[in-house]
Amino acid sequence: MIVHTDYLWFNTRKRQEFIRVTDQVAAIVKASGVSDGTALVSAMHITSGVYVNDWEDGLINDFQVWLEKLAPAGLDYQHHRTGEDNADAHLKRTIMGHQVVVPITGAKLDLGPWEQIFYAEFDGRRKKRVVVKVMGI
Ligand code: ZN
Repeated sequence: MIVHTDYLWFNTRKRQEFIRVTDQVAAIVKASGVSDGTALVSAMHITSGVYVNDWEDGLINDFQVWLEKLAPAGLDYQHHRTGEDNADAHLKRTIMGHQVVVPITGAKLDLGPWEQIFYAEFDGRRKKRVVVKVMGI
């Protein structure tokens, strides 16, 4: 059994940004030496997430429009009584999910034909990271 841990770092220009990380995760899987197992990809911040979906600009924009309807920025959230201003980012992160587990078969990510792994930033412009933990044989 191999357990291999690595990190991806982000510092986005925009407050909200979705970044495809499939290739970086695949590189970590390759470095791990695991041929059969799983990779956990988990955002280490409560205002960013990780999800698996299509790498298509229209859909990525659709997600952002949809999230803005569900958790609009700029509302008078109770969380802002603490002095913070990012309640919408916490809510959006919870909607999109904070981590994924992807299968590894034959030393490669065993994703479906249209599946890609994304880092979803909702309160960026600062240094953040994602942990990638590869486990298997
Ligand atoms: Zn907050």
